Amino acid sequence: MRAMYRADGQTRMEADEARSSGRSFPPPVCSVHFFSAVVRPPRVPFLPMSKPRILTGDTPTSTGLHLGHFVGSLENRLRLQDEYDCYFLIANVHAFTTLADKPADIRANTIGIVKDWLAVGLDPDRSTFVLQSEVPAIAELTFLFAMLLPFNKVMRNPTLKTEIETKGLGDSYPFGFPMYAVGQCADILAFRPELVPVGEDQEAHIEMCRDVALKFNQMYCGVGNRVEPRDHVKSGGLFPIPAAKIGRVARLVGIDGKNKMSKSLGNAIFLYDDAKTVQKKINKITTGRQSPTEPGDPGNILMQYVDAFIGNHDAARAAEIKRRYAAGDNIGDGHVKAELGEAINAMLEPMRVRRAKMEEPGGESIVLDVIKRGLKKGNAVAEETLHLAKQAMKLDFGARMLG
Ligand code: ATP
Ligand code: MG
Repeated sequence: MRAMYRADGQTRMEADEARSSGRSFPPPVCSVHFFSAVVRPPRVPFLPMSKPRILTGDTPTSTGLHLGHFVGSLENRLRLQDEYDCYFLIANVHAFTTLADKPADIRANTIGIVKDWLAVGLDPDRSTFVLQSEVPAIAELTFLFAMLLPFNKVMRNPTLKTEIETKGLGDSYPFGFPMYAVGQCADILAFRPELVPVGEDQEAHIEMCRDVALKFNQMYCGVGNRVEPRDHVKSGGLFPIPAAKIGRVARLVGIDGKNKMSKSLGNAIFLYDDAKTVQKKINKITTGRQSPTEPGDPGNILMQYVDAFIGNHDAARAAEIKRRYAAGDNIGDGHVKAELGEAINAMLEPMRVRRAKMEEPGGESIVLDVIKRGLKKGNAVAEETLHLAKQAMKLDFGARMLG
């Protein structure tokens, strides 16, 4: 007897039944015929998509997250937690691209990042925290997607080029370093999200990810070349073409005043810094201005921080500071730094309170538990995507048989 299966492993009858009972299903990307008695594709855990999805994440390359992460991506995550089905990924495998000789650091950093997420207010009951190394489907998708990206295009990716330069990687970086750009496409597409909240530095990566999704849908799901990105799923594509959602500060400059604030460049104010450390770091900022009556540059690093951390809650005060600063109207850098330190510390204070519980003995087990909880749902979604992708690529030989 011949049965018609949807790409998600359900018979048409099952799908019809479910539809009439009001449950929704992943898109019927490609119909595949099987002899039911012989080969039945695995029953992928069915995951209703009641809300559009978000995927974003952080790499554990340092002990914690910084103000750049907050304004570039975390604020958007917090805002969108209810509206979207959110997946937040800790890219711990990608941390090995620059820290392969420091596995203990990567582990500790991973715990640190989850603590930051919890301290900031990301909620594992509403969102799914996913640890990359425990989601094998991501690694498999990385290899498959690597065929859809021209090598030279990856190497021309401006974000990669900047990282090679600013991190001083020279020409001795491992093969895995540029490969993380392909891996990031898999990180994202494994969850088939519509939106990816990131800072501006990630735009080139998201563009590459969009290219992969477009190409996959066209090559393997029969979506026409002229179909608009927003209509890809409607036209049978497996992947929505994800859009970057840039934060309210697209690229926060570091306290060195040169590079973007970055956890690997020693120019960051961390979310876990105590009040004294925050003020000390701000005091280190140099603008070259000599006196309170010297007209200052309204676009310099201090003024950018005033916009970001005073302007966000008191626009009038920020405008006043900037006006007086530009005019040299008796306002010193020292005064601005003190006011700025106060504003940043006020913003970080509730995070410090939430973090305190995790710093007590046994705090790590809170984090490990959150990671464990996220893996179940994270793996279910990623496995479902891998299964659908393999069906579309004619890698449709039934269930995996390991051992
Ligand atoms: P690394 O130096 O290891 O690359 P990073 O500080 O750049 O670390 P990532 O983990 O690469 O941090 O970035 C995580 C997210 O935070 C990304 O979405 C990125 O765009 C955003 N982000 C990082 N730094 C900034 C910044 N200075 N301004 C705005 N967004 C940022
Ligand atoms: Mg980065």
